[in-house]
Amino acid sequence: MLTTADIKDLSTKRVWILVPAITVGVVAMFAYFVAVALCRDSLVNSARQNFGETVADFLPLAMILPSLGFFLAPLVWAERKSKRYALICPECTTDLSRSTRRVIATRCCGSCGKQIVEGRRIHGPMAFERLSRVEQRRLLVYWFWAWPTLGLLLLGYHWIDPTALNNCPQMLFIPGLIGTAATGWAFARSMDKRYIPQFIASAMVLCLGINAFW
Ligand SMILES: [Zn+2]
Repeated sequence: MLTTADIKDLSTKRVWILVPAITVGVVAMFAYFVAVALCRDSLVNSARQNFGETVADFLPLAMILPSLGFFLAPLVWAERKSKRYALICPECTTDLSRSTRRVIATRCCGSCGKQIVEGRRIHGPMAFERLSRVEQRRLLVYWFWAWPTLGLLLLGYHWIDPTALNNCPQMLFIPGLIGTAATGWAFARSMDKRYIPQFIASAMVLCLGINAFW
């Protein structure tokens, strides 16, 4: 039988793999942006001379896209690495790492239904599902809309006063980029269609931002 402390300990260990990985991802993304910014003009000019106007127009966009890979690669690596500290059901060996809160609250494995944690349960499985759906909706509405909203505000600021963001023009597309990566990641992990509107909004803000940036 597991204890609540065991489960929290495993969660902490996973977080300590994921947080540095996200940090590395963000730093790598910024380093890539700096590298792109340094050679952008010469690359675009040579593309214009060698391949024509259309290629030169699309090149900046094509150069931005790999940044998503720089951001996601450390996350994927961390996701695999953290498997070492996965919460495994002792009864049916299902990986329960993504539902530790459910396991703690219900004391039971969500897959085989057997009690695997010591002590009395806080919620029954049904009550927990209901509560977590409400919470998840709140998260979806407030958190994932925050990035496209922030991106749009910055773009609005830029449209009103084009010189306002001259010192940090990256801010025009970074909120959209983070939003696109975060919702894309959430969707890829859960295949939950409710992430799609936020993903589309973030991607549109990202495109508008890149357009304003170049
Ligand atoms: Zn089980």
